[in-house]
Amino acid sequence: EQKKLHLTSPRMFTHDLFENLKNIENLRDGLQNAINNKQLYLCYQPIVQCKTKQPWSFEALLRWQFGSELIRPDIFIPLAEQSGLIHEIGAWVLNRACIDASQWQHSPNASVSVNVSIIQLLDDDFIYILDKALKTSKLAPERLHLEITESMFADNKVKVKERLNAIKDRNVQVSIDDFGTGYSSLSQLQTLNFDTIKIDRSFVLNMLQGGEAIIRATLFIANEFGSKTVAEGVESLHEAEKLSEMGVDYLQGFLFAKPMINDDLRQWVERIDTQQPQD
Ligand code: C2E
Ligand code: MG
Ligand code: MG
Ligand code: MG
Repeated sequence: EQKKLHLTSPRMFTHDLFENLKNIENLRDGLQNAINNKQLYLCYQPIVQCKTKQPWSFEALLRWQFGSELIRPDIFIPLAEQSGLIHEIGAWVLNRACIDASQWQHSPNASVSVNVSIIQLLDDDFIYILDKALKTSKLAPERLHLEITESMFADNKVKVKERLNAIKDRNVQVSIDDFGTGYSSLSQLQTLNFDTIKIDRSFVLNMLQGGEAIIRATLFIANEFGSKTVAEGVESLHEAEKLSEMGVDYLQGFLFAKPMINDDLRQWVERIDTQQPQD
């Protein structure tokens, strides 16, 4: 039962990569092999507290090393979603991230933020998979944050709400990712009651060109709903200062760190510690 893949954006592929992917008769096998051969792995990017610059969370970001090429998740996640492989990959990511975080002696209180595709969330097995990852890793559920992109909420209101309630019953936290880029209504945002709202990088990029209105509006809404805020894609000190002034709670971006492999986190944390003024 091979599903036909729709490679809608071949422009996003390098020529070689596109040729290669066409030759993988069965992407399911290709991605399965990637899992087996450790070609799929997680990087982690710190999300820091605005005031102290201390790590608050680490976001797990999936990487696929395909031969000599590193394939971006923006490319292969949609492929995984279309082929149904997202379920297996998503379960692997969740499990791996929980195990890694449970062993972070350098940051025993920091959370791990895991991206969950809406297809995964709506799967009947999702809560079972979540429970299994928590049980296997023994990670405190409060230390797990699930990031869900807001697109497609509107089509599945009832089921999304049901799932998010089940997640919250377990004390796992939920963030809305790429906020402001999708189609969810404000009333839905209120009903779903997210712990954290992640302001999309595109708004941070525009901020210094007068685009700060959307960020201010988002902060106002987050405050009304009792949600924390993260600004994504912070690349300059100037942006960081401006966002702090505006009242964003947490910052994430290349200014602080690029995504790095799990083994490199400890060194980064130690370096941050020595940079802190001691008081
Ligand atoms: P996202 O969840 O919004 O993740 C943030 C993306 O912004 C990451 O791209 C990160 O590397 C990038 N980024 C962070 N700071 C900066 C910055 O200062 N400047 C710039 N230019 N970029 C920055 P990445 O790793 O390529 O991931 C892209 C998207 O793929 C993610 O967006 C997420 O939606 C998706 N994704 C990644 N891993 C997973 C996963 O395990 N499962 C699912 N379902 N989706 C994933
Ligand atoms: Mg994310
Ligand atoms: Mg995001
Ligand atoms: Mg984004």
